[in-house]
This record gives sequence, structure tokens and C-alpha cells, in this order.
Amino acid sequence: MASPVLVWFREDLRLGDNPALAAAIATGAPLVPFFILDEQSDGMRPLGGASRWWLHHSLVSLREDLRQRGADLLVLRGAARMIVERLVGALSPQAVVWNRRYEAAGIAIDSDVKSDLKAAGVHAESHNGALLYEPWTVKSGAGNPMKVFTPFWKAAQATGAPTAPLRTPTEIPGASVDASAIGGLEISDLALLPTHPDWAGGLRETWTPGEAGAQARLRFFVADELKGYGDGRNRPDQAHTSRLSPFLRFGEISPRQIWATATKAVETGRSKAPASDLTKLKSELGWREFAYHLLFHNPDLARTNFQRKFDSFPWRSHAGELEAWKRGRTGYPVVDAGMRQLWRTGWMHNRVRMITASFLIKHLLIDWREGEAWFWDTLVDADPANNAASWQWVAGSGADAAPYFRIFNPILQGERFDPDGAYVRRFVPELAKMPASHIHAPWTAPAAMLASAGIRLGETYPSPIVPHDEARARALAALASISDAH
Ligand code: FAD
Repeated sequence: MASPVLVWFREDLRLGDNPALAAAIATGAPLVPFFILDEQSDGMRPLGGASRWWLHHSLVSLREDLRQRGADLLVLRGAARMIVERLVGALSPQAVVWNRRYEAAGIAIDSDVKSDLKAAGVHAESHNGALLYEPWTVKSGAGNPMKVFTPFWKAAQATGAPTAPLRTPTEIPGASVDASAIGGLEISDLALLPTHPDWAGGLRETWTPGEAGAQARLRFFVADELKGYGDGRNRPDQAHTSRLSPFLRFGEISPRQIWATATKAVETGRSKAPASDLTKLKSELGWREFAYHLLFHNPDLARTNFQRKFDSFPWRSHAGELEAWKRGRTGYPVVDAGMRQLWRTGWMHNRVRMITASFLIKHLLIDWREGEAWFWDTLVDADPANNAASWQWVAGSGADAAPYFRIFNPILQGERFDPDGAYVRRFVPELAKMPASHIHAPWTAPAAMLASAGIRLGETYPSPIVPHDEARARALAALASISDAH
């Protein structure tokens, strides 16, 4: 048998626009696609529960897609460096190829694997499968990493338009491999799905993980929802965002594919969206690029304040209030709707992510890292760059952060972005009968209105765990204390 090429799938669980896979196919050699669940290597952050659920289904879908084209997916578990060494010993490949990742632990493993392969005389090759602009390609005029989004995005685009996505291969020549002899597992052996209890019902109802699901979502979004994206993307009660984030997180779709499909649809008139909606979508993809730029240059982004003056921030520790926030029982309807949407579906609308994060940090003065960790565990799109960068952005501790004194008023935010209360009613059913006039502040409703909506505050729905005005004053004082100190 000709010496095979090993294709290492990681956060690129797709066949289309997959440069590593395309390069492997171009060699003409038989291929061994493989995936390693690595929870052992130093610094690897274990996936959260919702991500594990997603990953299971995404792997099932990838394996099926590979099988339909003549290959298979070898599934393994353990420290990646050791496993690759074992595969090389058993299969004597001519090359190992993969698409790059950008968080510190992954980079360290990949560079060790690359040196091992070189020492063993095996060709190693890495590609860009995840980003429009890799972090080191965008620099300030002085040649430094960028810290502010707008100049970053301008500089990134000035390096050239994203390249066109690669086609999906129709045939993939698989090598025949005795999987069980080299530690091959069933996907179910990875035990990624929740069992006792099975809390994934809401996820199953909401999502179809996998490349086909991603492409279907993209087509629908571009045809029906992109028009009006510029304003509509702020409305959690409307369907104007792509909901492609978990697919992007696991690489079931690439940003190049989204960019190219949306651009073509607008240019050909297949989407009725004006150019401004397209530009807005592209700039949101740009925020993802920026988050990866920040993560690459600041590997500890999920743990360390980008602005070190926040190290002396007077965080409160309050288990009861943290729990109320997690469970959507703060008494602020838009906050509670967001937290329950997250718990039930594994996803939350961006506007509401900002409101709920701001509430935890500024109303409760609870450390943003607690929120980052909860999102990490519960989001199907939990992303090492986007999650960390966004939490720091809301906290005001980040690179290009929201002004530290901006404290979202959850009542006004609700009234502005969910004016009829439809979003709240969907996720907080105890408020379903509340009229729109008072749905974002039920404690201000007249007694008769509460009674006819069947609400007993403090019993059927909580009273606010902290009054907004007091919380705001307390947050400003806390923020002033670190500003004064520096
Ligand atoms: P769309 O509006 O359709 O945007 C398309 C794509 O652009 C998204 O899928 C995403 O990849 C990217 N994008 C959009 N908005 C942002 C943004 N503000 N920052 C970075 N990229 C963006 N996004 C994640 O992918 N994973 C996370 O773990 C994550 N955690 C977040 C935590 C907080 C506190 C906040 C405020 C935001 C977080 N975001 C995260 C960013 C954003 O909320 C989501 O990317 C977005 O809601 C995904 O929905 P969508 O795919 O419909 O977005």
C-alpha cells in the first residue's frame, strides 16, 4: 500500500473549503482522516457541556460525510503528541496535515508534533482553515499587534480580499486501516453526550450540527434574514442574525464560505439585502477575526485582565446572586430571558449577551471570569477567542472595551430591543400574560395588572435582586476606585 497521508481534523469539521484536506487529496495518496479528543495535554481547557454535545453530533456528521466519499474518520482519545507518535509508528505516513489553531495550548502541541514529525522524517504541513486574516498578518503602522477594532479591520482588509473558498471534494481516497489495532474508538466512547440527566432536549430541538446543517442555515439566512441585518441584528425578538456561531466554532463552515456566499447573493440580487447589511455582516465576522488577533497576542485572555488596573477591582463574591443570574431568576425580565435562552438552547442573542454580562459584572459586581466560565460551559458556540474577548469588552477591562462607565439599564434595553416583550414571553413563561407596557419592569405594574396576569412578585416571579439605581451607583463607585488608583 502507498504510504498514506494523515489528515488531522480539529476545529475544522468540514470537507468544503478545508485547505488541509484539499492538500492531502492533491497528493494522490490514500488518506487517514483522524480526530483526537485531547483533554490530557498541558493547558488544554476542557470543553463545556454544551460544546461536548455539539462536538459529538458534529463528529457523527463528519464521519458520515467522509464515508460517503470513500474514507472514514479514525477517532482517538488522549494526549495528541503521544497519539500522533503512535499513528506514525503504526501507519508510516508520508505526511501529516492539519489546519492551524490559535490558542496557546494548541499552538504548543502543534509545534511539538511538527518537530517530532520532522525528526521522524515525516512531512508536516499546516494551513489556514479558520480565519480570513491570520493574527500575525495584521499589524499597526509601527509593526505591532492591534488593540482597537476599527483600525484593525481597516488594516486587515487593506492586506487584500479574503481568498475564495475551496470546493467540496466529491471523492476522498481512504486508506484501509485496522482502527482497533491503533486505539480507534467509536464516537460514543468519547462520552460527550449528557446522560444522567439528559439535559440536551432543548439543544436537539434547536440545532442540526454538521456541515450540511451549516450550509442549509447559511442559505436560509442569506435568502431570508440578511435583509435588515444592520438594524435587526440588535433585536432578540426577531430572526435577523445568522446563528452560524456554533458551526464556525467547530469549523463546520468557514468564514470564507460565509463571506463569499453572502457577497455573491447580494451582488446577483438573490438576496434583497442592501450592500449596507452585507458590510455589517462582514464587520461582525471582522470582530471574530479581531478576537483571534487578541487571543493570539494575549494567550491568557480568558483569565487575565487586558488592562491590568482591573486587577484591583473590588469584585464581590456572592454565591446566591451568581446562582440567580445563571438560572435566570434576577427579577429583570430581559436578563432572565437571556439566561434561560442560554440554558435551554445553548445560545443567546448577542444584544442579550451584552445585557446579561453587563448585569453580572456591573449590577452584581461579580468577576467577569465567573460569567466567562458559565458561558463556556453552556454555549454551543463557546469560543476561546470570542468568549474571552467579549467578556473583557463588556467588563471594560479589554483591549477595545466598552467605556467602563457604560452600565446597561436592563429595563431600557428591554424596552428598546424587545419592545413588545415577545422575547421575554418566549423564555419567561410566568410573564406571558403581562402587557408590553410593564413587561420589562413588572414591579412597577399596578396590583390589578399583576393579578390579572397571574403574577405574584416574589412568588411566581422574583422581585429584582438588586434595585437598578443602587446597583448603578455602587458600580460607578467601584469603577472610580480603580480609575483613581491609576
Ligand atoms: P451573526 O450576527 O450572524 O454574526 C455572524 C458571525 O460573526 C457570528 O457567528 C460570529 O462568529 C461573528 N460575530 C458576530 N458578533 C460578534 C461579536 N460581537 N464578537 C465576535 N464575533 C462576532 N461569540 C462566539 O462565537 N462564541 C462565544 O463564546 C461568544 N461569547 C460571547 C460572550 C459575550 C459576553 C458577548 C457579549 C458576546 C459573545 N460572543 C460570542 C459574540 C456574539 O454574541 C456571537 O458571536 C453571536 O451572538 C453569534 O450569533 P450569530 O451567529 O447569529 O451572529
